Amino acid sequence: MNVLVANLGSTSFKFKVLDMDKNGEQIARGGYERIGQPGAEYATHGDVIDVILRELPKPPDAIGFKAVHGGPISGAVKVDDHVIDTMQQFADIAPAHNPPYIAAMKAFAQKLPSVPQVACFETAFHQTIPMSRQVYGVPWEWTEKLGIRRYGFHGASHRFIATRVKEIAPEARKVISCHLGGSSSITAIQDGRSIATSMGLTPQTGLLQNNRTGDFDTFALLKLLKQGMTAGDVLSKLGKEGGLLGISGVSNDMRDIDKAAAAGNERAKLAIDAFVEGIRHYVGAYMVALGGCDALVFTAGIGENQPALRQAVCRGLEFAGIKLDETKNNTRGTEARISTDDSKSQVWIIPTNEELIVARQTKEVLES
Ligand code: ADP
Repeated sequence: MNVLVANLGSTSFKFKVLDMDKNGEQIARGGYERIGQPGAEYATHGDVIDVILRELPKPPDAIGFKAVHGGPISGAVKVDDHVIDTMQQFADIAPAHNPPYIAAMKAFAQKLPSVPQVACFETAFHQTIPMSRQVYGVPWEWTEKLGIRRYGFHGASHRFIATRVKEIAPEARKVISCHLGGSSSITAIQDGRSIATSMGLTPQTGLLQNNRTGDFDTFALLKLLKQGMTAGDVLSKLGKEGGLLGISGVSNDMRDIDKAAAAGNERAKLAIDAFVEGIRHYVGAYMVALGGCDALVFTAGIGENQPALRQAVCRGLEFAGIKLDETKNNTRGTEARISTDDSKSQVWIIPTNEELIVARQTKEVLES
């Protein structure tokens, strides 16, 4: 079974085609950016789908979506009208993600009507988190009727890490998975199951994100609204001009921020320090939640490629059993154990593979 895995953003479309009869061997991959932007080659996600289908040697047997927010629908499910309607209802809190997925699901259904589609929600891996870590302190009917609670995201990535750790370090039962990339989250994994995660109702929360705020005091809204901004202005700024970009004023890309910091830019240094503090905050909290940490894992663009950041995160944690090997820590982008031989906790770089998880789940749903 060849599964086309679709990974969409509001202006991007990345895909891989994996052969699930050959252990997920990659048959094709591609990516399109700036969709629908001024001067862009493609006006809609549908246009991109036309190009992909023209270029593939044969149509896929199934399509798996790394879908983001289905509210009460979590896990991996066949796409139907009910799934699409529910994603629509949660589009207001996942504005960069749900609309392009809905558009792509409809376009694929029109262009390839006989090819089944499966939505693998990013919230799925976190269904095992206990209620005490899901609820917000809000009026109960918001929780019950509006579904306002913590869901957590990056489920495919954290699930991949949980699965991979079982293969390469089966003795590690308490794992802290740090997905640090364009958006970032940290998950505590006990015996392969998520028990806590840093993102909440929306992927805007938790750690500082590239250009999104992360955790924030809701009551600051009052002050902002009093400045004459509308709720829409505030939300747009929190979602596009916050995070690492907001603090540094340099860029939303860690590579640029790093360069600026090295050249003496104080705000760029502050953005990196604040990002590191956020990571250490969750690592500490999750060591307590797990009762220790057998393996600390770094993944995604920043986690896999930035030795200095990993070193800053692990600094002074010998008391907690974490000792980084400075030479091994210079590894970039490949799987490696980067702790010293006598470190009580193992520290790993594990490149994530979200597409493999989505393709596996797609196959499972269609075969069940
Ligand atoms: P996304 O979440 O959009 O899939 P990635 O996981 O690719 O993003 O992570 C993007 C982030 O990773 C960017 O901030 C970028 O600066 C950082 N990054 C990617 N590659 C490198 C690299 N080779 N060296 C340093 N940082 C990198």
